[in-house]
Amino acid sequence: MKIRVLPSNREFEARHDEPVLSAALRGHFNLPHSCKSGHCSSCRARIVSGEVSYPGARPLGLTADEADLGFALLCQARAASDLVIEARELRRVTDVEIKTLPCRVESRALLAPDVLQLMLRLPAIEPFAFHAGQYLDVLLAGGRRRSFSIASPPHDAARLELHVRRVPGGGFTEALFAHEAAGELLRIEGPIGQFVYADAGTPVIFIAGGTGFAPVKSMLRQALERGQARDIWFYWGARTPVDLYEEALVREWAAMYPRFRYAGVLSGADGTAHPSGLVHEFVLAQHRDLAPFEVYAAGPPAMVEAIRAGFPARGLAPGQLHFDSFDYAPR
Ligand SMILES: Cc1cc2nc3c(=O)[nH]c(=O)nc-3n(C[C@H](O)[C@H](O)[C@H](O)COP(=O)(O)OP(=O)(O)OC[C@H]3O[C@@H](n4cnc5c(N)ncnc54)[C@H](O)[C@@H]3O)c2cc1C
Repeated sequence: MKIRVLPSNREFEARHDEPVLSAALRGHFNLPHSCKSGHCSSCRARIVSGEVSYPGARPLGLTADEADLGFALLCQARAASDLVIEARELRRVTDVEIKTLPCRVESRALLAPDVLQLMLRLPAIEPFAFHAGQYLDVLLAGGRRRSFSIASPPHDAARLELHVRRVPGGGFTEALFAHEAAGELLRIEGPIGQFVYADAGTPVIFIAGGTGFAPVKSMLRQALERGQARDIWFYWGARTPVDLYEEALVREWAAMYPRFRYAGVLSGADGTAHPSGLVHEFVLAQHRDLAPFEVYAAGPPAMVEAIRAGFPARGLAPGQLHFDSFDYAPR
């Protein structure tokens, strides 16, 4: 099928059995997206002409009204005919090429009982350019894929660092925890995503939930190690102290960089070392007026949703909120 994108009038080809978004990304059309599982609505686009279908029911991130008005979620929609769609093309990350590459698991280490750090080595002859905050997909048998954010920054990319949380009953992550993965070959596709760091010069707040720390670590290392002159706050939300699995490193940064401030916020029981509660509520309590800030948030869908719902009322303009929602791969 031919897909024409307005307003640019550029075209790409899509098969009838693949998500329109996947075809667009393969064709280097950088359309907005985040979760790729029909929840976050980032990939919402208007179907100007033609028909789309969904493999199951209408995705959760699309209301009946929106569907009636001709909107579709491109991460789930399949083209049932040639299409003309109206979608915002992003220019910001077009300069990196999405590649499919083999890579070797050079080492694995437990950062917490249920978080594994993987260091991946890419083929020496294949440059892999990415932006801080982007993720990659691990390609599995049967066309399945699992997304993981790159925790290392672009200026230290000899090896790619991932933080993988074990999902009880999860096909890929349980298998990783169950055996010694070092030395194994994985196939990856990346870099992917519009959650990318840029220094706008304004003060910036980073918020991570659990392994949402991975893309934030890449961004923080870029900002701190490259000596950017902006005030930086980092709030890391988790359940218990062990879930703040690299807090010692973050505290070292706080001691080393005067313009960097950190707080870990625990939703479960703690002693006295951390404030308790939900991380987004803690941020709202610390910052009455968010208008001067940019906010970068990554982690569980519920945390990202709460930030998207609550922060604009405190003056955060839509263009100043950047987020990555760690939704699960569709079944
Ligand atoms: C853009 C993006 C970036 C991501 N980055 C990271 C990252 O850096 N680190 C990281 O640990 N995760 C990250 N995730 C989440 C990660 O992709 C999933 O946890 C992973 O795909 C689970 O794979 P699995 O095969 O083990 O589970 P599956 O076999 O796919 O799932 C098994 C069961 O568990 C449920 N499930 C799946 N994932 C989760 C979860 N995370 N929490 C609770 N229940 C779940 C499923 O609905 C299913 O019922 C990211 C997700 C996205 C979309």
